[in-house]
Amino acid sequence: MTYDLVIKNGTVIDPSQKICEKKDIAVAGGKIAAVNNYISDGNSHDVIEAEGLLVTPGLVDLHVHVWWGVAHLAIEADPACVYRGVTTAIDAGSSGSNTIAGFHRYVIDQAHTRVLAFLHISGMGQLDNNIGELEDIRWARVEQAIEAAELHSDVIVGIKVRLTENIVGSNDLIALKRALEAGQELNKPVMIHIGGSVNQVEEFLEQLRPGDIVTHSFTGRPHGILDNNNKVIDAAWDAMNRGVIFDVGHGAGSFSFPVAEACLEQGLGPGTVSSDVHRYNIRGPVFDLMTTLSKYIHLGYSIGDAIALGSSIPSAAVGLPDNIGTLKIGADADIAIIEHRKGPITFSDADGNERNGNQLLLPVETLRKGKRFNPQHSAHPNLLGHPHRH
Ligand SMILES: [Zn+2]
Repeated sequence: MTYDLVIKNGTVIDPSQKICEKKDIAVAGGKIAAVNNYISDGNSHDVIEAEGLLVTPGLVDLHVHVWWGVAHLAIEADPACVYRGVTTAIDAGSSGSNTIAGFHRYVIDQAHTRVLAFLHISGMGQLDNNIGELEDIRWARVEQAIEAAELHSDVIVGIKVRLTENIVGSNDLIALKRALEAGQELNKPVMIHIGGSVNQVEEFLEQLRPGDIVTHSFTGRPHGILDNNNKVIDAAWDAMNRGVIFDVGHGAGSFSFPVAEACLEQGLGPGTVSSDVHRYNIRGPVFDLMTTLSKYIHLGYSIGDAIALGSSIPSAAVGLPDNIGTLKIGADADIAIIEHRKGPITFSDADGNERNGNQLLLPVETLRKGKRFNPQHSAHPNLLGHPHRH
């Protein structure tokens, strides 16, 4: 067989196929052509030696902000995503009905990363850092959101709404109602951003449908999912039991180790792990999705479970086809090659709490449709001097 590329001797971890062992992977025509214990590279145009490295499906980050130049918090998609192991990135509301056409043409259509989007129920998306996008509720127009989502149905996976007081004032319940109306009409999930709201989080959670997503689930801000005694509130359990997904969405203000730990102790772990990487956290404490997954490995998750929470599970959560987030033969050759680095590492949450860990996942190289992306141009700011391999 002639292949374009063979990845040799890596430890393949593909939760979607329950694979966790040393294997070779062959790529041809941008697709995964073979996954076997031994694949000859004799006729292959290119070879990657992955001895000692992990080889996983390209990661799927359910919450990023990449409407660069328009949304105040956004960063460029490729340096933050495909160069860091993330082959599918879902922008969480940077654009709304007023700006989705530009986001589609100038970002989604240009990026090497597969970029998809939650459309913000506010037409402006997340335009400004000081004027909240729903302080004036006239921005939340259901008809326009539905029309835009239908026009861009190839990239829109759901509807986003943020319910924090400085963003929505006291309009949280009406904003949520409108987001749910749009989500209902489109038959797509709504992602709600919680923490620091005027109204109680219970009033939001009880309205969510199975498949809707709560992001910033483990926020240290008021109106999170713990009560004053650090007990998970009943409304969170009820929501989880009927299929609401509790996403991490780490962000600059929305992941607390004490909250995440208290939830885990009580049996409430994340349904998906996303980074919420953006301009105000890419130089720490978030850095990237792999660092966020590493925090859950530090909290006791296996590497396989962490990879699943950052690949096949978020992909399914937004209804993507089952050939995304997998190394199945015939799927796009979206592959992350990862160093599992052992050694002391200090993790910080969004509130400045630190935890001393001893392992970190680091992007070494990513393939998107078989094309190679090496992170050397976006070195991990916390690990300057990291030796890059090809
Ligand atoms: Zn966000």
